[in-house]
Amino acid sequence: MTGRAIRCGTLFDGTGAAPVRNAVITVQDGRISAVGTTTPAGAETLDLGDRFVMPGLIDCHSHASIVPGEGDQLGQLCRGPVPQALAATRNLRRDLAAGTTTMRIMGEEHFVDIDVREGIETGVITGPRLLVAGRGLAANNGHGRALTSYDGVDDVRRGARENLRRGANHVKIFVTGGVSSPGTTPTSSAYTREEIRAAVEEADRAGTYAAAHAHGGPGLRLAVQEGVGTIEHGALATDEDIALMIERRVWLICTFGIFMHPDGIEGGDGKRPAIMDKMRWARRVVGESFPRHLASGVRFAVGTDAVHGRLPFELQTLVRFGVSPHDALLAGTRWGAEACRIDGDVGTLAPGKRADLIAVDGDPLKDMAAMDRVTTVMKAGVIYDGVFGRSER
Ligand SMILES: [Zn+2]
Repeated sequence: MTGRAIRCGTLFDGTGAAPVRNAVITVQDGRISAVGTTTPAGAETLDLGDRFVMPGLIDCHSHASIVPGEGDQLGQLCRGPVPQALAATRNLRRDLAAGTTTMRIMGEEHFVDIDVREGIETGVITGPRLLVAGRGLAANNGHGRALTSYDGVDDVRRGARENLRRGANHVKIFVTGGVSSPGTTPTSSAYTREEIRAAVEEADRAGTYAAAHAHGGPGLRLAVQEGVGTIEHGALATDEDIALMIERRVWLICTFGIFMHPDGIEGGDGKRPAIMDKMRWARRVVGESFPRHLASGVRFAVGTDAVHGRLPFELQTLVRFGVSPHDALLAGTRWGAEACRIDGDVGTLAPGKRADLIAVDGDPLKDMAAMDRVTTVMKAGVIYDGVFGRSER
């Protein structure tokens, strides 16, 4: 079999190289076999000659089942497994259609993410390739606590081990408060150093890493000191926090849309004045600090935090905060793959990598608004047409 040749108008391969005009990508058995300028004889051709072609997007922080704009996110998480799975089926299709080919899920109840990952891998439903956490580890009085909580070192170990036994790819721990919950403050921390260390140790011994929900304050510092791989959100991180993250090579996962986009919390719980006030405050703080953080040398990638189909907004916000369009595209592709530790498999368009790519109508390097016009999505060599499922062309 000679595979398929994809003719690209402009190719941004995610390696950091300058974009190439009129490149040809050859795909065989779901992986890229060559990147060059000639079409192999006999290959079936996909003509994207008037498109900007780049690696599929990597959403480093989402939740499959919830929609923040519908309000009461914890209530949504506490529904039964069937409504959760049905909602996930709808939501993930939206993400894929907008160009996300890989997504890291950061906590679900009923281990629904593990079943949904299986459903996608076996072709039962359509969605991005998933990396899952199982249940997020949350303290009884902490942010993110839905049906279950894990308190004390032994309980944290038990929770991490159960997730890992069921097939979680990483461990998620909610260290600090959040923006959407009225009770906790984003810098309060429910977990002790020993509990955080237990989560990191369990992940580490299983050959993976822990990801910490942390906005700022002592909890964020503890998480970085104890060796988590990624800090999620970091909205209130100080320059000192960022310096420590650089030193420890911890990734910052930016999630702007959840509190900045109208489809985020604003559309749901934002109708409550106390929540909307908290969000306006967070917007102001982030607007002041993130241009500095993003230029500091800290490694960063992006996530929608369940604002499904809105990963382009994250890239547009990076640019608004002073990141070059080139680096914004890397944040949405290769850097995301590195943060999720899957850069051997995805994130760039190079021989041996999975054939995960998208075609964009326009040039996002000139205008990031073009990312709202993803016209073709390919995952593992299969083309998905819009939101209505796939046609195997
Ligand atoms: Zn989240």
